[in-house]
Parts: sequence; C-alpha cells; structure tokens
Amino acid sequence: MANYNYAITKMPCMRCGNRNEFEVSIYFGKTTMAQVEMGQPYPLAPGSQHLDATAEAYTECSNCGLDFNLTAVIEKGVLVRLEPDLENLPYIPDERTTGDITCPRCESAEAVVSKFKGNFSRYTIHCKQCRYFSTERL
Ligand SMILES: [Zn+2]
Ligand SMILES: [Zn+2]
Repeated sequence: MANYNYAITKMPCMRCGNRNEFEVSIYFGKTTMAQVEMGQPYPLAPGSQHLDATAEAYTECSNCGLDFNLTAVIEKGVLVRLEPDLENLPYIPDERTTGDITCPRCESAEAVVSKFKGNFSRYTIHCKQCRYFSTERL
C-alpha cells in the first residue's frame, strides 16, 4: 500500500547546496503515489477537499545522495509550497562514527555519533548498550 504522493520541485539542496530537481514524497491525505503539481489540488478524502494543512514530506538529493525533510503546505486543498524543515534531522548523516564519544550515561565506548553538517549543525549520540540518545549542537 502506498503511503505517500509526490511532487517534483526545483530548489537548492539543504545538504550540498546544489540547485536541482527533487522528487518529494508527501505523507498525507489520500495516498496513491500520485504526482501532484504545485498549485494544483492535493488528493484528499471526500469532504475535506478545501482543507488548510501542513504535511510531512521527505526527499533525497540526486547530486549528493543525502536527504532532508520538508513541510508541504496545503491551502484550501491546493499544494502551494514545499518548505525545507531544518528542525527535524534527516535520516542519513554526513558522517557516522563509533567510539569517538563515550556514552554519558553508561560510559560504553560503543556509542554511535552521527554528524549532520551545514544547515543542521547538530550531531546525535546513540548508545546501543543503554539506549541513551541525545542531540547536540556541532
Ligand atoms: Zn544535495
Ligand atoms: Zn550508554
């Protein structure tokens, strides 16, 4: 079962800065993997065709292979904008290392550090031993 629709848009990549075409998955509404044009009605359930909403969206860059989240803005049932979401960290880090930082909770030397550079300037620490997880500024 498809759980998204998609839109094609041109914008700068939030990871590498390269301006190119993105296929953006939108996880909202009546999802049938339909391509939705910007400025056109977004597929919604009957009775809510004139909805104002924001929806989670996601894309990967064809230039750098990295990803980022977006917010799809729907006004009166029409897809009007795709805004990069810099608050939610992407799934794919710029760099992932193990053992650089000792887990602050259990002192395991196996904590995984994922770095997100550029626009995100944050890193996460994830300890597999005690399941400690935190996000810090780079
Ligand atoms: Zn990129
Ligand atoms: Zn730990």
